[in-house]
Amino acid sequence: MSVEENLAKVKNTIKNGVTLVAVSKTHPSEVVMDAYNAGQRIFGENKVQEMCAKAEVMPKDIQWHLIGHLQSNKVKYIAPFVSMIHSVDSMALLEKIDAAAIKADRVIDILLEVHVAQEDTKFGLSIEQARQIALSTEISQMKGIRLRGIMGMASNTDNMAQVKAEFLRLKVLFDTLKSTSQTIDTLSMGMSGDYMLAMECGSTMVRVGSSIFGHRDYSVH
Ligand SMILES: *Cc1c(COP(=O)(O)O)cnc(C)c1O
Repeated sequence: MSVEENLAKVKNTIKNGVTLVAVSKTHPSEVVMDAYNAGQRIFGENKVQEMCAKAEVMPKDIQWHLIGHLQSNKVKYIAPFVSMIHSVDSMALLEKIDAAAIKADRVIDILLEVHVAQEDTKFGLSIEQARQIALSTEISQMKGIRLRGIMGMASNTDNMAQVKAEFLRLKVLFDTLKSTSQTIDTLSMGMSGDYMLAMECGSTMVRVGSSIFGHRDYSVH
């Protein structure tokens, strides 16, 4: 199946009010353009360098979402154009993004990445750490960022009961934070293998890669 056909198929399964981020990491811009030409405008990348390279050659109305781990020293490269950063996992990084956004005369939408999966290799804040940052006076005073919500990944397992329990923990935190702030409206959870379940659990934004672009070949990078 072509990227256009895959995209149409995925879009058909997305609930009303849920935003689809097409995860284009590792796929060349010519392939990503197939999704663009089929109407997709929101793309997710997990590496700063790759996102910058694609943003440079691709149409300017694309909204680029960074979904992978962000090092403080690379914030400056994406601050001028990034639409949303899903992977904020410390106050120090938040301060860097705030400063870089102000310098670029922008306000950048951010999500706090929350770790609920069992794998300990994944980045992210604990639920309690995320709550503390979201409710802090520091964040409320930052003019360069807008806290829009949280992002999380469930464990990579076939045990759907476990995946569901993890999604529901994110949903509970999201609801708590949402009740405290008018800018919080985004719960980013769900990937190719679990986004249907994520939507059932209250996801408002899904990040779908392989179901649209096919399997990734990391050997070429
Ligand atoms: C790669 C990636 C995705 C997309 O994964 P697929 O299984 O290909 O849909 C979603 N979220 C994050 C954070 C990713 O790194």
